[in-house]
Amino acid sequence: MILFPSTVQAAQVHRVAPRDNLSSIAQMYGITVEEVILQNGYLKKPGSIFPGQVLIIPKIVEENVYHVRHGDTLYRIAQKLSVTMAGIAKENQLVNWNVIYVGQALNIPSVQGSTQLKEPKPKPEPEFQHTVSEMLKMFPETFYRKGQGSGNQIALTFDDGPNTIYTPQILDILKQYDVPATFFVMGSRVERHPEVAQRIVAEGHVIGNHTWNHPDLRKVSVDELVDEMNQTEDAIVRTTGQRPALMRPPYGAINPNVLQGLKDIEYKVINWSVDSVDWRDQDVDQILINTLPGIEGNDIVLFHDAGGESQSRTATVEMLPELIKTLKMQGYEFVTVDQILNISPYK
Ligand code: ZN
Repeated sequence: MILFPSTVQAAQVHRVAPRDNLSSIAQMYGITVEEVILQNGYLKKPGSIFPGQVLIIPKIVEENVYHVRHGDTLYRIAQKLSVTMAGIAKENQLVNWNVIYVGQALNIPSVQGSTQLKEPKPKPEPEFQHTVSEMLKMFPETFYRKGQGSGNQIALTFDDGPNTIYTPQILDILKQYDVPATFFVMGSRVERHPEVAQRIVAEGHVIGNHTWNHPDLRKVSVDELVDEMNQTEDAIVRTTGQRPALMRPPYGAINPNVLQGLKDIEYKVINWSVDSVDWRDQDVDQILINTLPGIEGNDIVLFHDAGGESQSRTATVEMLPELIKTLKMQGYEFVTVDQILNISPYK
């Protein structure tokens, strides 16, 4: 077995212990205090950290080792790191390629011309004829992705529910920590689980429209768009008595036609400034790594309380208390989307 020494950057999570301070933490990981602060943009007062809060640590790896995460397969790891499955199998003398376990340390063969582990490629931006910032300017009272400036408010949003397993668990946590949130629900699921939709509203959260069937709105006719929205709106009114004025487009997919169509039926279109990517990275630490460094205040953060039939949101549920505690300790206040944008949530 040959190891290829190299310096690899990948983040990890540190949970602050009672006697920790920034320099002791930095020392523990062999990095500088500045590197810790740089990685944790959400720190309001970098000097003050509290036991139980989460810090994201840029990880220095001395050799090409990959630790298997939840949801990994050999194929996925090979894809992520741009190496072959056969190469990993050979390096680790894997007999059965299907048998790997979470936390397992795999030696990664070096890639020609580079001995560094590669970060997973970011999802390619959907092809917009117009950029997001252009559309923000074209539809100033219709299209939003975060609050103005960098204050201390955070709006948590949950898409694709209601769901009978994960939505109630998320609602329990939000109640326990007294955190209001915004749920963008699918009409077809409101019809199936009206009691969950009712609970969302009864507990002081805001409910928004996420279409009936979750189509890419850029690919449907204006009639279909209106139909998707109206059917869902009616289901929400029937169930909760509230007529939503906020919507989130499935996949965040928009173009000027979609925005105009939604503006015509008096909807505010709400995307996000911080993406947890929790549908893909079903791992508590990875979701914290995806969210915390990008938070600067007045952010709208995207999570999912439901997904496809077989998809688990256990990691999202488990992660939530730590995210809430960490941000509260740093002085952030949780509000609903309408509050962070100073608009009305209902028609
Ligand atoms: Zn969605």
